[in-house]
Amino acid sequence: FHPIDIYKPFNKPRPPPIAVRMDTDSSTTTSTAVYHHKKDKVVVIMGATGCGKTRVSIDLATCFQSEIVNSDKMQVYKGLDITTNKITIQDRQGVPHHLLGEVDPDAGELTPSEYRFSGGLAISGIVSRQKLPIVVGGSNSLIHALVADRFNPELNVFDGSNPVSTQLRYNCCFLWVDVSLPVLCDYLCKRVDEMLDSGMLDELSEYYGSVDPASQIGLRKAIGVPEFGRYLKKYPPGSGCGRGTGGEWDRGRRGVYEDSVREIKENTCQLAKRQIGKILRLKGAGWDLKRVDATESFREVMMATSDDHNKKRKKKRWMEVWGRDVLEPSMKIVKRFLEE
Ligand code: ATP
Repeated sequence: FHPIDIYKPFNKPRPPPIAVRMDTDSSTTTSTAVYHHKKDKVVVIMGATGCGKTRVSIDLATCFQSEIVNSDKMQVYKGLDITTNKITIQDRQGVPHHLLGEVDPDAGELTPSEYRFSGGLAISGIVSRQKLPIVVGGSNSLIHALVADRFNPELNVFDGSNPVSTQLRYNCCFLWVDVSLPVLCDYLCKRVDEMLDSGMLDELSEYYGSVDPASQIGLRKAIGVPEFGRYLKKYPPGSGCGRGTGGEWDRGRRGVYEDSVREIKENTCQLAKRQIGKILRLKGAGWDLKRVDATESFREVMMATSDDHNKKRKKKRWMEVWGRDVLEPSMKIVKRFLEE
């Protein structure tokens, strides 16, 4: 199966209006452009934090001539790349990304309406380059704001008090990468440890040392910022607080640090749970979400091994399961969608 074989310009530039209708009555004259009813095709990859959406997006984008639009509400801001878990330049494999680390966090919180506007512009640009827009990120409220035909920022559609918009302004293919919650939570705890190993605390120390989080009402909500804020207030970097004579951390400091890490893990699992709830709400409202189940491949990842030979074998096994359960079904779904 070679998805590249089916490459063609997916979204042709929109033709000019085919007619202009003049509605005239005694008091007003209005003209209405009547457009071809073909909506632009957009792939939307949904799923809880950590479920592998980013990997799927790059795998699809390298096969289907695409550009990616980020829909994670924390990753839109500049800064805190480790804490918000932004994809690295290297991992992007040359695929252009939009609304990723572009918004100045000092300029206030990006509203869903602003996201709808900017995301809409990004999608039009991608379509004009005859490429496929792939929207990826865990913020379902942003996804709803972006694709709804009519969007009312006053209405919360996720608390059950207002209907989800089922009229969409794009022809959407929704891919839902799902992982069973207990398996995902185990993985998320491991991921937090890896983020810490990659320098998350140093990044946050620098953040607290250089900006006033009070002025960054969007980014300061990122998981890790409030949790480590308390730790960093008590043990400011370079102060020597909480260190014994040999420079090692005392029990008090270790305890506060471990509490912060525990909170980050708990809050990340809570976020995943809320995100899955929102996805189910959209599905229940009639959004045609195509679910791919990545649980088995996550189980493979969690079966850690320390010796090198087994590591290679594990990686091979993981790639087989990921290909079988996630990649191939996703490719087929998108291929079918593009051929429709
Ligand atoms: P709502 O707007 O109702 O909270 P949502 O689906 O738009 O929901 P989420 O993406 O679920 O928004 O994000 C909610 C919260 O989760 C954020 O305010 C932030 O605390 C945390 N969060 C989300 N994404 C990240 C991220 N990449 N890094 C760190 N924290 C995040």
